[in-house]
Amino acid sequence: MALVCAPCNTGGGARQLRRVLQRTDAPQALAYGASMNILMNRRVLLNARPQGMPQASDFRLEHSPVPQPGPGELLLRTLLLSLDPYMRGRMSEAPSYAPPVELGELMVGSTVSRVEASQHPDFKVGELVAGASGWQDFAVSNGQGLRTLPYGTEHPSHWLGVLGLTGFTAYVGLLEIGRPKAGETVVVAAASGPVGSVVGQLALSMGCSVVGIAGSEDKCNYVRDTLRFTQCLNHHGDNLPAALAAACPQGIDVYFENVGGAVFDAVLPLLNPGARIALCGLAADYNATALPPGPDRLPQFMGRLLRRRVRLQGFIAFEDFGAHFPTFFAAMQGWLHSGQIQVLEDFVVGLENAPEAFIGLLQGRNFGKLLVRVAQ
Ligand code: NDP
Repeated sequence: MALVCAPCNTGGGARQLRRVLQRTDAPQALAYGASMNILMNRRVLLNARPQGMPQASDFRLEHSPVPQPGPGELLLRTLLLSLDPYMRGRMSEAPSYAPPVELGELMVGSTVSRVEASQHPDFKVGELVAGASGWQDFAVSNGQGLRTLPYGTEHPSHWLGVLGLTGFTAYVGLLEIGRPKAGETVVVAAASGPVGSVVGQLALSMGCSVVGIAGSEDKCNYVRDTLRFTQCLNHHGDNLPAALAAACPQGIDVYFENVGGAVFDAVLPLLNPGARIALCGLAADYNATALPPGPDRLPQFMGRLLRRRVRLQGFIAFEDFGAHFPTFFAAMQGWLHSGQIQVLEDFVVGLENAPEAFIGLLQGRNFGKLLVRVAQ
């Protein structure tokens, strides 16, 4: 798959922005047992299934002995934990593409870890690996599904975002489903987030006009001024439908859907004949406990798709397009190196702060890719 790269809009320089928002100064908390000698493993478990927006009480922090690796296994110490909206789905029993986390079980999540001990021929102590250890300090692994980071990797966190799930999702959703052409108008929701920001930057590099939608003036300023999107609109501002119509005088050819809800209502009337919608996520609905009030708008929605010959495709990035990952990974490394893709990361320090940070993510309080620094 080739990405057509028209003159790339890199925000006036080939410099990669890496903004780090430290939310807390809390020191690295190692968990020690009562004797203050025994290192313990802290694990964040699902305590209750959320009703609507998750609460702190839906999580439980448990201390247990650090597990010991057996033959063919290795002990991993979590350095970075990725927090992602899909985790809300795993907390619920509603049907999904992946099984739910059971009550009392460890919260799932992608991680970058250091190998602390190894009885596995392919992994050496001190190496960094990307995997899925979940919300805990330590994990024992048999090596399956782990990817070793090259020695000296400058930004291990990128393996959990722009070089991992979120970057890949943006890439395949835009190129395989959106299929934008130079001169077309692309609209993307959650535009300052790790998926939306990459979607917009790729579309810009393909010669498109790109309108982002985000949840605050600060986020919109970043999207406009740093990422150089053509326009960015605050969905909390007055009259989003009118503002979006003004920002898209030629209508919308590609819509990258990350949120749904009122944002989609504003997009729908502006879709051009032959428009493509990459249905990636519906963050506005993840905590819904009932259908939205008001009349049934499904016939209006279906009619619009029919008359405008709109193609709408939902996708699960790795399940549907996993074979594209090596091509993506090589291309994205190049774009990061050249500064064509810029990255914003939002770090929270301390595993104990993960639940609060995750709740904030569902409320749009993150600013960039949300990561927990579990250990140095
Ligand atoms: P973000 O870090 O961008 O976080 C989600 C954002 O959604 C929030 O920051 C907020 O941004 C926005 N949001 C939340 N509630 C609302 C609302 N009611 N109305 C409008 N916007 C809202 O997430 P990611 O970039 O990691 O993911 C983006 C989407 O992609 C998510 O829906 C996620 O589930 C989906 N996804 C899908 C994958 C797939 O394979 N299909 C894989 C990975 C992610 P703001 O403050 O700007 O409104």
